[in-house]
Formats: sequence, C-alpha cells, structure tokens
Amino acid sequence: MIDEYKTSKLCSHCHKPTSNLVVNEKKLWKLIKCKTSGSINNRDHNATKNMMNIAKQILKKKGRPKKFIRLQKKKSKRNHVAIRYKLY
Ligand SMILES: [Zn+2]
Repeated sequence: MIDEYKTSKLCSHCHKPTSNLVVNEKKLWKLIKCKTSGSINNRDHNATKNMMNIAKQILKKKGRPKKFIRLQKKKSKRNHVAIRYKLY
C-alpha cells in the first residue's frame, strides 16, 4: 500500500506545491492549481498520478521520491529530536 502523504498537495507534473482553486471567493476542494505552472487539475487524478509515480519508483528499486517522504520526529534518549525517513 502506498502512503498518500503529499500526493494531493504536490503537482503530479513538477512536484511543486499546489493550492485549492478559488472561484468567486469559494474554495473548490476537487480542483487544485499548481503554484508554479498554474495548471489546474482534479485533486484525485493528481493524487493517483503521484501514487502511480511513487509505485513505479519503488518497483524500480529507486525508493519513494524524496518530496513524498514523510518526516517522522522521534525523541531520542539524549532528548533531541531525530528525523527519520519513512521509505514506503
Ligand atoms: Zn506543476
């Protein structure tokens, strides 16, 4: 199973952040706009493309692309925060 982390937040074309499309001061949750290219995509289609891409990278043994890796904060014994990467 592929972790959905960031799959609907990052553009499936350029992997840059997206925002909700606003029309007449209303947020349209189903549509997202790439902040870089301005392209408008269906949120679910965009997430599906990202998940397909992540799955392909994992199958090619390249691992999950870095921008889609969830950062896990874990307290160590020395009381500082260590950041670990979750690979799948
Ligand atoms: Zn984009």
